[in-house]
Amino acid sequence: MIVSIASGKGGTGKTTVSASLASIWDAPVVAVDLDVEEPNLHLFLRPELSPPEVVNIEIPVLNEAACSRCGACAEVCQFKAIAMLGDTPLVFPEMCHGCGGCLRVCPTEALSPGTRELGSLMRGRAGRIEFLMGRLRVGEAMSPPLMRAVKAALSALIAGAPRDAVVDAPPGVSCPAVSAVIDADIVLLVAEPTPFGVHDFRLAVEAFTPLGKPLAVAVNRAGIAPAEEAGLRTFCRGRRLPILATIPYDRAIAEGYARGRLVADLSPGLRATFTALRDGLRAHYAKEAVHA
Ligand code: SF4
Ligand code: SF4
Repeated sequence: MIVSIASGKGGTGKTTVSASLASIWDAPVVAVDLDVEEPNLHLFLRPELSPPEVVNIEIPVLNEAACSRCGACAEVCQFKAIAMLGDTPLVFPEMCHGCGGCLRVCPTEALSPGTRELGSLMRGRAGRIEFLMGRLRVGEAMSPPLMRAVKAALSALIAGAPRDAVVDAPPGVSCPAVSAVIDADIVLLVAEPTPFGVHDFRLAVEAFTPLGKPLAVAVNRAGIAPAEEAGLRTFCRGRRLPILATIPYDRAIAEGYARGRLVADLSPGLRATFTALRDGLRAHYAKEAVHA
């Protein structure tokens, strides 16, 4: 089972939940940091990491002498990474997603594959937890192709021997966030019961519901704003979203977080919260699979 941990906005405690959930998982598991712009799952799980593997993207390189100025490359590019300036194609490498479409349609082989460094893939292990993370190169804006490389590494691990995965997705509802949850079996949304938190949580529900995956909720910092929390719980009831964990707003948790400690290790009660979350995710996934 692949569990993606997502949130409508940053700072809800998504990574804290991901790390604690991976730490109490009672079956072979890979913890995956797909928040490649700001990976920090390793700060909590502290894996021993192997040297970074450079991840490149294939971009088109133009040989003007061979170009017939037909414009087919600019026409096929969905990402506006090639534009015709008069009758001359201009390539914008930083906008290229590496789909290869332009190389395939060019009738004169005026485009050849070049590379641009996107970032790095790191593998590691923290005790019995296998670990994968991507880190985007500073100044690079194109996270989905790097995320694809991390997801391919996860697929290869799972193909080698079945195991579960706990995936820390990027926050928000933009393309990287959707791309991170698209392969999940179940999506856990971490909600913070504050005015902004509830607003962005609703946006996340609207964005992820069309994907047709089972959704569940963990409420973090419960008790921080009772009126907002009541509204959040009413909304979840109305949308039939099960709340599988409630993590209190607590100074001891904030201090533990600041020291990079796992929330599940802070007290027997919190550990029980995360084991119940794990069991709840399995049960909700099994129930939804029956109805699918
Ligand atoms: S490889 Fe794809 S994204 Fe990149 S320029 Fe060509 S068509 Fe556009
Ligand atoms: S498709 Fe090839 S030949 Fe046509 S404009 Fe682009 S680079 Fe030139």
